[in-house]
Amino acid sequence: MAFSESYHCDVCGKEKQEGSHDWWLMWDDVFTPPRSEQGQPLLQITAWNLFQAHSAGTRHVCGAACAQTLLNRWMLGK
Ligand SMILES: [Zn+2]
Repeated sequence: MAFSESYHCDVCGKEKQEGSHDWWLMWDDVFTPPRSEQGQPLLQITAWNLFQAHSAGTRHVCGAACAQTLLNRWMLGK
């Protein structure tokens, strides 16, 4: 099955072009401190990776500025 490999920045909507560099992936995770049963929100960020790009809940961002915007939103709980 062929599927379209088209990605858009989840912040500004820009489409990822072939050979675009400086794209990042961010997703929500949970950090559980030692000796604690309660997890707390954790935001993961990594450089572009095709497998993770397909993963549900992963957000695609086109550079540091959009990553920062997403981080700000996350810190504000939006
Ligand atoms: Zn963007």
